[in-house]
Amino acid sequence: MLSLENLVVKYGNVEALHGIDMEVAEGEIVSVLGANGAGKSTTLMGISGLVKPASGSIVFEGTPIHTLPAHKIVEMGIAQVPEGRRVFGTLTVSENLRLGAFTSRDRNRDARTRDWIFSLFPILKERRRQLAGTLSGGEQQMLAIGRALMAHPRLLLLDEPSLGLAPLIIKAIFETIREINSSGVTVVLVEQNARAALRLAHRGYVLEVGKVVLADTAESLLANPEIHSAYLGHG
Ligand code: ATP
Repeated sequence: MLSLENLVVKYGNVEALHGIDMEVAEGEIVSVLGANGAGKSTTLMGISGLVKPASGSIVFEGTPIHTLPAHKIVEMGIAQVPEGRRVFGTLTVSENLRLGAFTSRDRNRDARTRDWIFSLFPILKERRRQLAGTLSGGEQQMLAIGRALMAHPRLLLLDEPSLGLAPLIIKAIFETIREINSSGVTVVLVEQNARAALRLAHRGYVLEVGKVVLADTAESLLANPEIHSAYLGHG
């Protein structure tokens, strides 16, 4: 479904990705792991068109997308949930969701998607008239995921959905990610919380300073002693 080949991304003179190869098959959950600064967010932003590669290619369902503007990439079926959630705090929950559908022209479909999001996250339905800025961190994360789903993506990119959240909330959000995936949405998940991410994922990639150093099934990565000492040490 998605193929990254020799992807190089630079910020000015600083090369953040030194030639990344990655494959995502339809229906998968793929986790991207790595320390701070390894290039995980940059990889996601490259896919969604928020940063442009210096070289290499990104092909989605047979079409090269690395030259397309970000809004075209959303239209093609890729939506990103950014790190830190970035919901619009002075808008209501419903208004935030509506903004997620900005590329859509099918209001009936939008209404069905909104109902589906409310069934995934019933608390958002209860709070639909509340300003997003007054929601808890977990609820804002749910809203950020809901907003991305309003674009009807076939591929969902999640950047650190567990960041700063309590363990029970993380568990609920990860279970919902599984449910979203089961309904046919392919997922790329960037996480510091490597153990939880690998339990959820089918496969994983480990990045170190802008390079892929390991790519394997989630099961093998969970059993890998190097991964254990580097990323699974706590809990
Ligand atoms: P984190 O979990 O901390 O977000 P990450 O693995 O997602 O880490 P990136 O944010 O992709 O890593 O950063 C990769 C490299 O690119 C780092 O060396 C970082 O300092 C650098 N970098 C990221 N964003 C910028 C930017 N806007 N300008 C310059 N350098 C940047």
